Amino acid sequence: MIDFSTKAKNTWCPGCTNFSILAAFKNALNDLAGEGYSKDNFVMVAGIGCHGKIPDYVDINSFMSLHGRDVASAEGIKAGNPNLTVVSFAGDGDAYAEGMEHLVHAAKRNANITLFVHNNQVFGLTTGQVTPTSPKGYRGRSTPFGSPEEPLNPLAVLLASGATFIARAWALDPDKLKEIMKRAVKHKGFSIVDIIQPCITFSDTRAHFKDKVFYLDQNWPTNDWSKAMQKIRENSDKVPLGVIYEINKPVFEEQL
Ligand code: SF4
Repeated sequence: MIDFSTKAKNTWCPGCTNFSILAAFKNALNDLAGEGYSKDNFVMVAGIGCHGKIPDYVDINSFMSLHGRDVASAEGIKAGNPNLTVVSFAGDGDAYAEGMEHLVHAAKRNANITLFVHNNQVFGLTTGQVTPTSPKGYRGRSTPFGSPEEPLNPLAVLLASGATFIARAWALDPDKLKEIMKRAVKHKGFSIVDIIQPCITFSDTRAHFKDKVFYLDQNWPTNDWSKAMQKIRENSDKVPLGVIYEINKPVFEEQL
């Protein structure tokens, strides 16, 4: 068992569901190291937000990027040294607002990197402003009368943009999250895992999602784009988890 801990003091709110993502990632790294992945070849990248503290707590190579530029940085690292296993972390504000144009192009060119999004539907670090995935009516610092906007469906955007691996996970199930993380890292091409990660301080959706999430059955993942899009856009009270779409395509670094 490799110890991926660091001596950095953790400053997330006590009980934050980010702790679960951290634990799942460290366990995934440990499993992957046992399967031949070199600890020294991992690079994790993060942007700005509560998620952005995660590299401080994991003992692998890391790069702290600018707000919304984590995916662009990860792409550059991978293009510079294709032998590295590059994993980017982002928040929903980071990835789906400032960073969305980078995601679209990373998916389009099938950059061989993995992106884990801590999707808590709020800007947590700056105390609760609305993000692209906040639900309509969300009341926060920037929307005291409720957000008038419908939320973005980021997985639909990324499937349409050409992503070759699309998954959704639930932060409060770290065992399943670990397995999904491992599959995403092993996928050759652009892989995204949208992790539902309730912010217990500014948007505590734990009870809301607890009875809504369910895992897709064994017929999934599908390589059928239309079925995947239908599942991602399904207008249902339930929230499907797991690998929704996976195909193989030439990756960017091979085309360079
Ligand atoms: Fe976690 Fe929210 Fe606190 Fe950030 S503000 S550490 S997401 S509970």
